[in-house]
Amino acid sequence: MTDSRRPMRVFSGIPVSGGIAIGRAVSILSRALEIVRFPIGGEGIEAEVERFHFAVGETARGIEGTRDRSGEFLGAELAAIFGAHALLLGDPSFVGAIEQRIREERVNAEWAVHQVRQDLVARFERMEDPYLRERAHDIEDVSRQLLQNLQGVGHHDFSELPDGVVLVADDLTPSEAIRLGRSKVIGFAVESGGLTSHTSIIARSLDLPAVCGLTHAPELVTNDDPVVLDGEIGSLILNPTEEVLARYRAKSLEQRSRRAAAAREEQLPAVTADGVAIELMANVDLPEEIDELRRFGARGIGLYRSEFLFLETEPRLPSEEEHYALYRRLAEGAAPFPTVIRTYDLGGRKLARELMHLEEENPVLGLRGIRLTLARPQIFRTQLRGVIRAAAHGEVWVMAPMVSRVEELRQFRALVDELTEEVARDGHPTSGDLKVGVMIEVPAAALIADVLAREADFFSIGTNDLIQYALAVDRNNRQVADLYQPLHPALLRMIRSTVLAARAAEIPVSLCGEMAADPRHVPLLIGLGLRRLSLNPRAVPALRAVAAKLDAGALERCVAHCLDLGTAAEVERELAGVVP
Ligand code: PEP
Ligand code: MG
Repeated sequence: MTDSRRPMRVFSGIPVSGGIAIGRAVSILSRALEIVRFPIGGEGIEAEVERFHFAVGETARGIEGTRDRSGEFLGAELAAIFGAHALLLGDPSFVGAIEQRIREERVNAEWAVHQVRQDLVARFERMEDPYLRERAHDIEDVSRQLLQNLQGVGHHDFSELPDGVVLVADDLTPSEAIRLGRSKVIGFAVESGGLTSHTSIIARSLDLPAVCGLTHAPELVTNDDPVVLDGEIGSLILNPTEEVLARYRAKSLEQRSRRAAAAREEQLPAVTADGVAIELMANVDLPEEIDELRRFGARGIGLYRSEFLFLETEPRLPSEEEHYALYRRLAEGAAPFPTVIRTYDLGGRKLARELMHLEEENPVLGLRGIRLTLARPQIFRTQLRGVIRAAAHGEVWVMAPMVSRVEELRQFRALVDELTEEVARDGHPTSGDLKVGVMIEVPAAALIADVLAREADFFSIGTNDLIQYALAVDRNNRQVADLYQPLHPALLRMIRSTVLAARAAEIPVSLCGEMAADPRHVPLLIGLGLRRLSLNPRAVPALRAVAAKLDAGALERCVAHCLDLGTAAEVERELAGVVP
């Protein structure tokens, strides 16, 4: 599958989901231009050319209408510009060149328009004659209209992708990642995002290799290029040599057999070398992960990200029955251990902006999580009724995301109490003992953890957001990825005070951010006093092995000292002294 005429090239990014994908690339550019490049299969070419000509006709009709109207109201000079536009649509160096690209490069019409536009505009802009230079504007203008019409006539969707491709994209939303990862795609290579972005979390849930922060790769890789994606070290290899390919085929085989061997775990707690038990629970994002709890020996569900259920039923919201059926399935799958259901964490960059009609300048600091719950309670009443009914069939706990004020916890609990009565009045069984907890993922919540602990039944520390909000570093922004420091002393202090507040109030506390799955960070978390972690179930066996080598007592002493250090690098050095 290698192409010996083209040199091998390696792009380095952030490894976000392990595994190896060997295949052909499909490059998707959507962010900057909103123009996506798709390969078109053999029989599809004629239909694509026809679609293009239909759009040319529509554009011509549109221009004619505008010319007539401007002729009446704006004088002959402007009408002449539209005349030039109409002429362009009959010009073979424009329309013909686009058609030729569709046929020769076997690409979608939008992409061909975009390429021809770029070529012609660059050529006209270099011309001496000011009149001819102006023609660059005409080309821009007509191209834009053509693109609009193309997008109105038979949009491409991802179902047209071939099987077994490595997607190389500038940006990918979590919902696209779910849709693609469930069908044809064997790996994601993305320019945006980071370890804790939701698209990366989904890649891990789908068990697909993924690498983020691959600057320029989407523009430089073209469809059908042979590629290898290495999710362990974070590289995308374009046009690999035969030797590199052979090495990766062997590595991939070895990884698969290692994983198969690890997937025969007992549901036992992890135990450190000095005998301290650490509960390892699962973060579940997609229903298919339920089976993996037992396979990998996770003890219950420490976080179910319910907003992803909405993706299953989009654009419609899930009904109470759908909530109930899924949560009951989760609770029964996790029994005898608890299932922690987090109510929708919608808003922010996550989903539902359209559904909720949210227009926010800075959505990550906007109507997200519990704030949206309380602002639009109707949607959450349906969800909470489903949770309450499921709690009659297992150990279900419910928790609110993005809490920053104690009033939010009070209102959340009042809503749960009111709905529990309502559900009982409707004749459904209820548990009468539904634990109500909060995520500690906003610095304000960490700082008032002692106050929240008086009224919450449990805490779950969400470091993905806690780091983002404490350090003012967007978790999706690769420009500041190096400032996203899980070992920053500010974070250590917040986790420590949260753990102490929970201990003093005798309520359970766990940590469900991505730090919990990272063997480099788990020693710190144990040293900070955490005894319950929630992580991607596939990471459980490896963490159990990590924990077995650690000395919790020594880590606690070391971390007590780390709390006084000034930098993440100093913390890392200090920890290295006690981690084998
Ligand atoms: C977190 O913020 O750490 C967390 C677990 O929630 P999410 O990643 O869904 O924001
Ligand atoms: Mg969060």
